[in-house]
Amino acid sequence: MSPFSIFLPFLLYLSFGVSSVPIGSRSILRALGDPDPPDAAIDLNTTSFDEVLRDSPASFAIVEYFAHWCPACRNYKPQYEKVARIFNGADAAHPGIIIMARVDCALKINIKLCDRFSVGHYPMLLWGPPAKFASGGWEPKKEKSEILAIDDGRTSERLLEWINKKMGSSYSLDDEKYENENLPLNASDPGQIARALYDVEEATWSAFDIIFEHKMIKSETRDPLIRFLQLLVAHHPSRRCRKGSAEILLNFDDLWPSDLWPVNIEKNATYHGNDAFKGFQICGKEIPRGYWIFCRGSKNETRGYSCGLWVLLHSLSVRLEDGESHIAFTAICDFIHNFFICQECRRHFYEMCSTVSYPFNKTSQFALWLWDTHNKVNERLKKEEESLGTGDPKFPKMLWPPKQLCPSCYRSLKKKSDGTSQVEWNLDAVFKFLVGYYGNMLVSSYKDNGLLGVGGNERSLVDDMATSTSAVAVPVGAALGIALASCAFGALACVWRSQQKNRKRRRN
Ligand SMILES: Cc1cc2nc3c(=O)[nH]c(=O)nc-3n(C[C@H](O)[C@H](O)[C@H](O)COP(=O)(O)OP(=O)(O)OC[C@H]3O[C@@H](n4cnc5c(N)ncnc54)[C@H](O)[C@@H]3O)c2cc1C
Repeated sequence: MSPFSIFLPFLLYLSFGVSSVPIGSRSILRALGDPDPPDAAIDLNTTSFDEVLRDSPASFAIVEYFAHWCPACRNYKPQYEKVARIFNGADAAHPGIIIMARVDCALKINIKLCDRFSVGHYPMLLWGPPAKFASGGWEPKKEKSEILAIDDGRTSERLLEWINKKMGSSYSLDDEKYENENLPLNASDPGQIARALYDVEEATWSAFDIIFEHKMIKSETRDPLIRFLQLLVAHHPSRRCRKGSAEILLNFDDLWPSDLWPVNIEKNATYHGNDAFKGFQICGKEIPRGYWIFCRGSKNETRGYSCGLWVLLHSLSVRLEDGESHIAFTAICDFIHNFFICQECRRHFYEMCSTVSYPFNKTSQFALWLWDTHNKVNERLKKEEESLGTGDPKFPKMLWPPKQLCPSCYRSLKKKSDGTSQVEWNLDAVFKFLVGYYGNMLVSSYKDNGLLGVGGNERSLVDDMATSTSAVAVPVGAALGIALASCAFGALACVWRSQQKNRKRRRN
């Protein structure tokens, strides 16, 4: 048995606790070939109901309880769909506000679930915070319930009127994507980052979807991807993505074997594994996808994926332990160089990676390098976008963080004659801010819903990161969490490297 096969289950155990979801090729195969439902309203059942609603980024949920044999329900479906389309899915005009779902109570599997909500007629609509649905039930006579029956939603117009009255909003069935949106002004509102974890998940999913779709795993890109996956397994802020990354990593050697070709491997040869993973949802399948929340632009295609990718990279950088900084730096540089599909971006980024001539041996050094590099990109793009008019008018590029977000980050701020700003940064304060912003605040909305994963340890780790100036200056309990996470990343990298060496030796 290889050292890797002995070690990995233990490391996965450390990273997630005991998992109820089987990790391995069976669940991957299950995830393949299972097309997403075409409706905007999400079909839920006993198995998915609690998880989807608990993990939803939306502030409210509407659940329609129906029976597939009921003619009134069939007639009502297009009315419900009309409203669902403006709140759910890739083309939603108002994503992330209301999740609209439906449960077929005529299916045997859902009988207990429908009883939990005292379903007495079809169709029946309930409204409330998603987490209240996930953890509870509803009784018609119970006072003080946060779940309410929608008494007048018989047509799409009346349902939307009920919603507007409840929320004090003015949504319309004619609202279209990128119009009439309440966009987050994330430059100055620190609370907005708490909604970004879903964007980080979506960016992770997009990155791997592109990799598999474009068959980007080749003989020369295989090892960089393994190193990036190791980083994700240990430090991705979302448990779901850590699990999915581990699932790919576990199957990696079978699907993309390193010794498939003789030593003088053909440069551009691809592996069959690209097809095996096509459609794989690295961050979980049950979550409705297709919209950005924190990274949503006011114009088509201006933000989204590349914004989510930056947030992912920053959130990884503040979760590292000192000793991992340089290996993580290399993993991220190589990942962008090989797998970021924007040619110009990867070239510029790699040039900046290549200028680093000293090893990073502190978390702060790498986190600050990434922050500074991102600011250099911002400065360059600001000029380009201003002259070409290609930027998002609601999200102009700027030196970040702006003073409203972090006053203590600024020692001095001067306007130069060409209109640009010259800042003398307080680097200790910037690092402290980054740790709080991409550490604690990023995950603050999700502490209680299980998205973070490993229970008490990780919660205290995250809490402590917010108040420490350094991710390692933390109490013993949290330090243990950090040590376990770093052990996972370092050890995985080490085992993989020795495995590669052994294979090469065997080949020679
Ligand atoms: C590695 C990489 C390299 C890229 N290179 C190029 C390129 O060469 N040319 C090009 O046209 N596009 C490039 N892009 C895309 C570009 O940087 C933006 O992602 C895109 O224009 C969308 O911008 P945005 O307004 O959403 O903010 P983004 O720049 O994507 O930033 C996302 C969020 O991160 C926060 N943020 C901003 N600056 C910093 C900082 N310095 N440190 C920490 N957090 C910050 C803000 O909250 C911001 O909303 C690159 C993207 C990546 C991931």
